[in-house]
Amino acid sequence: MLRFASLASGSDGNCLVAEARDATRATRVLIDCGLNLTDCERRLARLDLAPADIDAILVTHEHGDHAYGVFGFAAAHNVPVFLTYGALQALRDEGKVVEGVKVNIITSREPAAIDAMEVHPFTVPHDAREPVQYVVSDGASKLGVLTDIGTSTVHVEQKLSGLDALVLECNYDLDMLWAGPYPKWLKQRIAGPFGHLDNRQSERLLSVIDRSRLKHVIGAHLSQQNNKPELARAALARAMNCEESWIGLATQDEGFGWRELV
Ligand SMILES: [Zn+2]
Ligand SMILES: [Zn+2]
Repeated sequence: MLRFASLASGSDGNCLVAEARDATRATRVLIDCGLNLTDCERRLARLDLAPADIDAILVTHEHGDHAYGVFGFAAAHNVPVFLTYGALQALRDEGKVVEGVKVNIITSREPAAIDAMEVHPFTVPHDAREPVQYVVSDGASKLGVLTDIGTSTVHVEQKLSGLDALVLECNYDLDMLWAGPYPKWLKQRIAGPFGHLDNRQSERLLSVIDRSRLKHVIGAHLSQQNNKPELARAALARAMNCEESWIGLATQDEGFGWRELV
């Protein structure tokens, strides 16, 4: 059994929890932790989890909204951290690595096993040192998480084909971004090939992958400044050819509640 939920999603902090369960054990990981320790603990409790329930933290990349709380949580609760060599070096350069925390280097070339969970990191184009995103599995069902990617690639589309659940970035609406208050350099960064996906890019990505097994599609990492939930939801619903109400959305304050794949 695989289930997952989000503690927070957006430019102020991202944190997702995934749990793989077999006959004898349950393995729970955080994917990113862009929250401070108190906030993370409080939001875990909302999902009926204690920090001691977390077996590992998987990091996508070093940006603060994903990595801010990683080493603090890991040190406080003796949890190992899985990340790429590039992400580790970037966090070390910023003084964010806490000595004594168990660190496991992962690469997009080979999957990792954490007890009952299979972890498949894959490379994405984003303006970080060695960014990856993840597909996790209990051996039967697969969940893909894709945020912080400037442009889709064939590699990414292969990795996301045949999933049972997908959490997909819908960062901005292109017209809202250009008409909005951000400085020009920031608009160009967000909309550039190493920035983020807008609603139309996410719609296109979803429309080209194998969607035949998808039971959950959730829009994530929505900009509060440059997007509207209804625009993101409509874009993903067009790609799925489904009712808009079927599409889930992750929010900054609430994330989203447990979703289950049996
Ligand atoms: Zn981000
Ligand atoms: Zn980022």
